[in-house]
Amino acid sequence: MNEPVTLKALERAMHNDELVLFYQPKVCLLSGDVIGAEALVRWAHGEASVLSPDEFLPMVESNGLLHDLTLQLLDQLVDAIVGLRDCTPVKAETPIDSLPPVNLEAHSGLSLSINVAPNDLASRSISNHIAALLQAGTIQAAELQIEITESAVMSNVDRVYDDLVRIKDMGVKILMDDFGTGYSSLDRLSQLPFDALKLDQGMVKRMGTSLQNLDVVRSAISMARELGMTSVAEGIESESVYNFLIAHGCEEGQGYFLGRPMSLTDFRTFVTSAHDFEGSQIGRVHQACLNLLRFRKTLVDAAFCSRVGEGVALQSVAEPGLQSEVARTRLGVWYFGIGQRLNAHPVFNEIEAPLRQVHASGLKFLEELERNQTVAVLDQQLAEIDQQVNRLIVLLHTLERAILASKPGRSPGR
Ligand code: C2E
Ligand code: MG
Ligand code: MG
Repeated sequence: MNEPVTLKALERAMHNDELVLFYQPKVCLLSGDVIGAEALVRWAHGEASVLSPDEFLPMVESNGLLHDLTLQLLDQLVDAIVGLRDCTPVKAETPIDSLPPVNLEAHSGLSLSINVAPNDLASRSISNHIAALLQAGTIQAAELQIEITESAVMSNVDRVYDDLVRIKDMGVKILMDDFGTGYSSLDRLSQLPFDALKLDQGMVKRMGTSLQNLDVVRSAISMARELGMTSVAEGIESESVYNFLIAHGCEEGQGYFLGRPMSLTDFRTFVTSAHDFEGSQIGRVHQACLNLLRFRKTLVDAAFCSRVGEGVALQSVAEPGLQSEVARTRLGVWYFGIGQRLNAHPVFNEIEAPLRQVHASGLKFLEELERNQTVAVLDQQLAEIDQQVNRLIVLLHTLERAILASKPGRSPGR
């Protein structure tokens, strides 16, 4: 029989480390690879029952115990991070051996996120704890992420701002959780130190119910992108939602379709097993086209900024990854990664040369800008880039049609 949830039982559970973290896998939608997990607390209560946070966190919070719990869970998370280091994620299978790392800003392994509340930040002890862990080299900044809900931040901006900035300055990513439920203005959002927006699962689940709801998700993804933040979707429960999110450029996702929250042991097995989260390749090809257009726009923006002397650093307008090797750009991650599964289509292989060319030309263009080249030189370079971009778009459209033509048609009456 289960004990009732009383304060006494809760205190004893905390003392006996019965509150444990479960791990829900996060997947990179660009590559289909497992890139980490969100840690979610569970209470192994009684003999056969596991309580979810909604059933006991309110009591933890109202009795002023949340802060102690967060510190306890952070220690558990750190042990998990260290323990998972030897566990190499099985990447989506492709014919290429030397794949680029899964994340756009790559680090060696998995990244685990923990949920925190405003009080955790306002007291500074979490950020002090993280600073000490990083300083001692126990964990790397890229291995840890912090999640805080939009509504909690928005009603406590003054109390949490300094600590958020402090944590971000340490290189630890900060995710705005349940985005879409807290009424943040665009202006506010752009001033807060978030690296990612986690689209609320209600928003994700509702998107199949009307065109309007679909547009809401689409705009949230573009908003994240325009603000230079990663978009992460929660609550992906079906393949069709997964495919929609890929086709609209959402970068990361989690949900029952990809994996439920699970024990650390099960997560370890999950990471080291093969999964097929390929999803819609058509959606990825469509994104590749849009990325090319954005890439061109980036160059034009950079030229415009330097012409008007606004003092905007080129870095800040350049597409993330543009300045690194071609395989790390958004297009490259797709082409040299999971896109390779399309290499049975002859047109796919025609993409590589112009892709390398357009990337090299873009880099050269930025260099020339920094050297203050004349308008005539820049114009000539941009004309060349336009030709390359147009050629690539034609190839990508041909590939799209080839994929469509190779799909078995839906049989009549189904
Ligand atoms: P959250 O941070 O937004 O976490 C996502 C919640 O959605 C989790 O519920 C997860 O199990 C659930 N979920 C994930 N994918 C799906 C899906 O496809 N369908 C459905 N229906 N649900 C999905 P959970 O674990 O019950 O946690 C609820 C909330 O409790 C969390 O929401 C978070 O705000 C809070 N929480 C959980 N663990 C902690 C913790 O360690 N510390 C703090 N401060 N809060 C926590
Ligand atoms: Mg969360
Ligand atoms: Mg959430």
